[in-house]
Amino acid sequence: MSALFSTNVAALSPSATLAVSAEAARLKREGVAVVDLGAGEPDMPTPKLVAEAGIRATQQGRTKYAATEGLLELRSAVARRLSLLSAGRPVNADNVVVSNGAKQALLNASFCLFGPREKVLVPTPAWTSHPQIVQIARALPVAVHGAPEWSLKVSVADLDRAWDESVKGLIMNSPSNPTGAVYTLAELRAIAEWAKRKGVWIVSDEIYRRIHYGDGAAPSFLDLPDELLERVVVVDGASKAYAMTGWRIGFALAPRELAKTMAALQSHATSGANTMAQWAAVEAFGNDAVEADVTLMVGRFRQRRDVLVARFRAELPGVEFVEPLGAFYLYFRVDDVFSRAVPNATEFCRRLIADEAVALVPGSAFGDDRWVRLSYAASEEALKEGVDRLVREINRLAAEKAEARQQKAG
Ligand code: PMP
Ligand code: GLU
Repeated sequence: MSALFSTNVAALSPSATLAVSAEAARLKREGVAVVDLGAGEPDMPTPKLVAEAGIRATQQGRTKYAATEGLLELRSAVARRLSLLSAGRPVNADNVVVSNGAKQALLNASFCLFGPREKVLVPTPAWTSHPQIVQIARALPVAVHGAPEWSLKVSVADLDRAWDESVKGLIMNSPSNPTGAVYTLAELRAIAEWAKRKGVWIVSDEIYRRIHYGDGAAPSFLDLPDELLERVVVVDGASKAYAMTGWRIGFALAPRELAKTMAALQSHATSGANTMAQWAAVEAFGNDAVEADVTLMVGRFRQRRDVLVARFRAELPGVEFVEPLGAFYLYFRVDDVFSRAVPNATEFCRRLIADEAVALVPGSAFGDDRWVRLSYAASEEALKEGVDRLVREINRLAAEKAEARQQKAG
């Protein structure tokens, strides 16, 4: 960013994932038949009961400021839902702070916990905003790369190698954006034990917890005993599980003092989240009838995932990818087709949109520009068409590369 501005924004860049969605929307407006497999948001509508609750709140004049930390009704509904998801563990509404999306909850947590000269470990590939949010708090994000044979997840040994006295935090994200990898409960436990030993705070972004292709919700830090949660903040929200990205409702569950501090921070920043959206979210988290919508949506994502994985195996046998066990992303490697003209995934994605009008997000957004993220939160038709075009592009680039090699040899 400009030297005219404060050092606060010296390392700031706009969200690369949102930028891809904006570019796809711009091309669509120009009349290009873009298949947008970039955007990471459910394509389903917000459940009817939830949308109606938002309308009702508006019509009934529940349109004033809410408590900064969120409506008690919402914090209680969230606490009850989290408790139900974790075998009835007690969850107290006083530990819940409602924010404008999970993003603000992550920012609150990082801003309250980390600061100058402190390091925060970020398992990588990482969602584009995780390192940026750490930087906004003026702390230093440190990428810890996961091994390909382990679905790019990090182990305690990986974290330990990256650790020194200045490490204050660790950002976890399971199910992962961009890989769809899911940490097992045993893996989470080992990481929580390590963090406790080291006095490292864990900020666990569990926004995709419900979008899990195993049994029930994905394993969570909340499935661990209390003594491992003294320095853990769990961030989640309504955006993904309830197809509510535009409503901007997220939350953090944190130890009491931290919850109070985060609420104080947002009392000056935003005064809290939109009141009518909070009433809609009371319905989402609180009404058990809405669970049927969640199950239906996850079922559809699972079907798409199955089709996608089968197509990649059959039609792109040389392309390595992480088997997605949650979220709605497929993360795959394209460096096999790199050439002088297409030296990285950023250029690959540029070519793909120019040649075939398919929008994907390059791995540069997630810390490794040999990989590409495809979002299958898109209609079955869009997905089919998008993969047809992607296969065509990969085959075209492979053929170009082979031809260039032959020319060189000849
Ligand atoms: N965390 C991850 C991993 C995400 O992919 C997203 C994208 N929406 C968010 C947080 C932010 O969620 P929200 O829209 O609730 O701010
Ligand atoms: N999280 C989604 C994504 O990764 C939405 C965009 C964003 O908030 O970054 O595409």
